[in-house]
Amino acid sequence: MRALCWTSGGELAVGQVPDPELRNDHDVIVRVRRSATCGADLPLLTGRASGLAAGDVLGHEFLGDVVEVGGGVRRHRVGDRVVVCASVACGACWYCRRGLPSCCDNGSTDPTANEAEWGHPVAGCFGQPRAAGGFAGSHAEYVRVPYADVGAFPVPESVCDDRALFASDAAPAGWLGAEGGEVRPGDVVAVWGAGAVGQLAARAAWLLGAERVVVVDRHPARLLMARQHVGAETIDRRDTDVAAQLREFSGGRGPDVCVEAVGGPAGEHLSLADRFTGRAPVPETVREAVYACRKGGNVFVLNGGARHVDAFPTGAVVHKGLTVRGGRQHGQRHIPMLLDRMARDELRTEHLATHHFPLDRAAEGYALFRDRPEECLRAVFTPH
Ligand SMILES: [Zn+2]
Ligand SMILES: [Zn+2]
Repeated sequence: MRALCWTSGGELAVGQVPDPELRNDHDVIVRVRRSATCGADLPLLTGRASGLAAGDVLGHEFLGDVVEVGGGVRRHRVGDRVVVCASVACGACWYCRRGLPSCCDNGSTDPTANEAEWGHPVAGCFGQPRAAGGFAGSHAEYVRVPYADVGAFPVPESVCDDRALFASDAAPAGWLGAEGGEVRPGDVVAVWGAGAVGQLAARAAWLLGAERVVVVDRHPARLLMARQHVGAETIDRRDTDVAAQLREFSGGRGPDVCVEAVGGPAGEHLSLADRFTGRAPVPETVREAVYACRKGGNVFVLNGGARHVDAFPTGAVVHKGLTVRGGRQHGQRHIPMLLDRMARDELRTEHLATHHFPLDRAAEGYALFRDRPEECLRAVFTPH
């Protein structure tokens, strides 16, 4: 089959790779309808440092049709249209049973790499290096989905492909930012980043009852989208004192909840290699969120781009009594609820699919996504 992969010549190109096969009873094979770029892929485009090997297929946000079903699969049949959680979890370990599937002990087939990095193994992910489990990605005609009863979900008929696609990663990530930040009715919520995850964190904050939602970004076109499609107020961080403006939005106190959702290239002062391989200064947006948050408030960090950061403002966390949390999306827990909301029209996401490309032009799609973040929120590939 055709797939976007890393070549032995050190570049990204669509080439032929072996068709995926069922490897165990709980797998299904999905024929991909849509597969999207994500900021988490950008470090992989740097080549050598990325950890990808020749033939590794990229892509982790996708939906498609089930074409083969393992003998142990209970919830899926050939022909089902399913959206698949970008993150791979077993559904049965101590963490999965407690509703923390992205902390899964069994989701990665090679847990040692991130155990060394973070102290514990975490869930796998499609289309990422071996450290994330080595699961072939979705920028391909077909993809093998392990633990299919746990990570694949039937899409309601009324929800179109371009909307359901975002239930794979960006919508559960945004939801986690708002839920994990414990947004309560009447809260003022600030979200850093008007990309797909930031806009969906803002939307989740509305749905959880926030009174005001403010999105902070440096790209006017994205901020316009956040106003038009999410109904958020916006701050252009290029030309203002963000913390001062946020105090004005919140009775002089600062937001109750600050969600940092700046992924990909918007951590502008970090080189991509720094973001992926080593130490880096704390992203300016994280520092800004900690600084702006009201005393006793919650900061939720969704941006895992920099592995280790220096100059984290510990003093502000202590003296202001902040709660700082982070997380990768728990789609296995949230996707059914998000699909319901999509079917009820409470959650609209199709505007985030700003550009479509046939799979054969995927490298071009990534170049646009990387170089024109102000206009390309997601490049969406259609393999068939
Ligand atoms: Zn993603
Ligand atoms: Zn698990």
